[in-house]
Amino acid sequence: MRVAIAGSTGSIGKQTLDVVRAAGDAGDYQVVALSANSSVAEVVAQAQSFKPEVVVVSDPIARAKVAEQLKLTNPKIEVIDDASQLAVLADVVVNGVVGFAGLGVTMSTLKNGKRLALANKESLIAAGPVVAPLRKIAGAEIIPVDSEHCAIHQCLRSSQNSARDLSRLLLTASGGPFRGRSAVSLADVSVQDALQHPTWSMGPKITIDSSTLMNKGLEVIEAHELFGVSYDAISVVVHPQSIVHSMVEFRDGATIAQLSMPDMKLPIAYALEYPNRSASSFGAIDWAELSRLDFEKPDRDTFRCLDLAYQAGRIGGTAPAWLSAANEVAVETFLAGSVKWNQIASIIESTMQHHDGQIPTTVEDILEADRLARTWAAKISSNIKETQV
Ligand code: MG
Repeated sequence: MRVAIAGSTGSIGKQTLDVVRAAGDAGDYQVVALSANSSVAEVVAQAQSFKPEVVVVSDPIARAKVAEQLKLTNPKIEVIDDASQLAVLADVVVNGVVGFAGLGVTMSTLKNGKRLALANKESLIAAGPVVAPLRKIAGAEIIPVDSEHCAIHQCLRSSQNSARDLSRLLLTASGGPFRGRSAVSLADVSVQDALQHPTWSMGPKITIDSSTLMNKGLEVIEAHELFGVSYDAISVVVHPQSIVHSMVEFRDGATIAQLSMPDMKLPIAYALEYPNRSASSFGAIDWAELSRLDFEKPDRDTFRCLDLAYQAGRIGGTAPAWLSAANEVAVETFLAGSVKWNQIASIIESTMQHHDGQIPTTVEDILEADRLARTWAAKISSNIKETQV
């Protein structure tokens, strides 16, 4: 199987290479393309070890450096700037790019009629109406790498006719580092506090999203787009151990869940091997060690981002693109130390008040929505910052 990895130096990219490594010769994986933004040393090391046909580097200065170094050690590897080549070369493209920047890879993979192992939820959330028709292209399919959606994908297979039998989807949420805390007690939390995820080790953007429950909000929209289920039939359950990765309830009252220890290599291997099961085991449970599984309702007053996401999802059109863009700006501003944690939700809420109700039909419409939302969110963030100084 010819595998391309977009965002190979990020958390998902590195774990995909771990999956390939774990499979060894028996896995029949061939890494044909890697793409990175600007991490020169890391992508060069990956290329030297996996010997892909091409390496895509988006930053021009970084690209020149990568080309120079690989010329000495691996002159056959082409270093290029065009990420759409990933889908041309591979059977399956793992999209592990962070944020809206992953849209191009999502689009080109489906347009080329290839399997998209999707870890980049933002592209589907922002561009749902534009991505949906591409999924009808012969050979094009999305297998979710997000652990919750991968779980739902697995659970849905227990029904022969899930469109008829499905009652609701139950997305589980760890609750993040601030579960159980009041809004008042969260007023002055630091970036470091927010980056301490209790169960998952992930990149900074998604870790902050987990602390605000925006990650779960985005995943609600992602589930709506992936599985075509209405927002009324998608529930969120807080489950602090992150072992039940999500559940599906059927009309006869049965709930099917997928359980494993938190390990993204399981969803990655699932997406590569579907409809088969991977020969490598990741996250198998030691039942002698597992003492309990807890479930509770999310605190929607403290973690306002969850309902902001439901609202944007229900509005549809470009509203999810606005929400996701505003969130990216708010998170960047928070990580830079310019606004407080509880202002992330405020920035998004204020940005959404300017949403213009556009219905997107082209990628240009999505790009414009993203640009507009970022402009508003940046303006609102800097106003907040000024009033604090
Ligand atoms: Mg997830």
